[in-house]
Amino acid sequence: MTGKLRIAIVGYGKIAQDQHVPSIAANPRFALAATVSRSTSGVPDIPNFSSHTDMLAAVKDLDAVAICTPPSVRYGIARDCIAAGLHALLEKPPGVSLSEVEELARLAGEKPVTLFTTWHAQHNPPVPAAAALLKGQRVAAMRIEWRENVRKWHPGQAWVWEPGGFGVFDPGINALSIATRIFPGALFVREAELFFPANKQAPIAANLRFESPASEGKLEAVFDWRETGGETWTIALRTEQGDDILLADGGARLVRNGQEEAAPGPGEYPSLYEEFASLIDARTSHVDLSPLRLAADAFLVGRRTLVEAFED
Ligand code: NAP
Repeated sequence: MTGKLRIAIVGYGKIAQDQHVPSIAANPRFALAATVSRSTSGVPDIPNFSSHTDMLAAVKDLDAVAICTPPSVRYGIARDCIAAGLHALLEKPPGVSLSEVEELARLAGEKPVTLFTTWHAQHNPPVPAAAALLKGQRVAAMRIEWRENVRKWHPGQAWVWEPGGFGVFDPGINALSIATRIFPGALFVREAELFFPANKQAPIAANLRFESPASEGKLEAVFDWRETGGETWTIALRTEQGDDILLADGGARLVRNGQEEAAPGPGEYPSLYEEFASLIDARTSHVDLSPLRLAADAFLVGRRTLVEAFED
């Protein structure tokens, strides 16, 4: 396919403005044709609508949509866009339940259009490089630390605390998306402790313990939104052969046995739009539910501990 793909953005919040608009502008395969934003007028000179249904009724030559709303409303918007024949890119997490995303995959296959469940952290070039280093290895230990200040990274975002808002799993699922991409075997959540502020419906911190047929060692994750210093987004693994693999800065840096390893690439969101165009050209979908499944399992097996109320 050679023509430009006319794409709309639904949900014009932080990630749409910071990453999707510039990545679409920089990719010659896409042209931004519309936005849906209820609280802003969107991008200058691009038609904006106050609902996705108004947009679908008014703009008849769209090819694709990027759905950048909170996850709780993604299913209904994606369902309508797929029914209208649009290829759909879903921000992470792709939905609030496995079953609704599986249904979207079925609908996309039936139409057929491309469905792309994106996990932006997997598009850091060091992530596939780490996966290649770990392939076929057995893992002696893995420790994930995902600590950040919720007031800095989610200022005023009330939805993250609502049912289906994921709480600290909103960033933590990025770590899970890297872990499922690089780990050389299946990962199961065996235990979880979820720390809920007394006034919120979603956890502010979580400790997870995993098991895997590829390891007899300690596999653990700590997610914490109460960090007031700098952020820590690291995944450290030791193989049974004694190699230390560290992914730091959310997957942006790879350190092997203390040595920084270069892993060049276009960067997270540009890479994600390159893949979206390739999937559309190949008339196929990419639906990866593994990180959402681990998050859902953590809620299923998790023990709940109440902690002090959180005020923004
Ligand atoms: P955000 O700043 O709150 O933006 C989400 C936007 O979606 C809102 O500005 C709003 O746009 C629209 N929206 C909210 N509730 C809606 C509803 N009920 N129906 C329709 N539209 C609604 O959130 P964000 O940080 O951009 O996050 C959005 C998604 O991207 C989340 O799934 C998040 O996990 C993911 N993400 C975020 C980041 C980040 O750094 N923030 C990074 C990667 C991925 P309008 O007011 O314009 O309608």
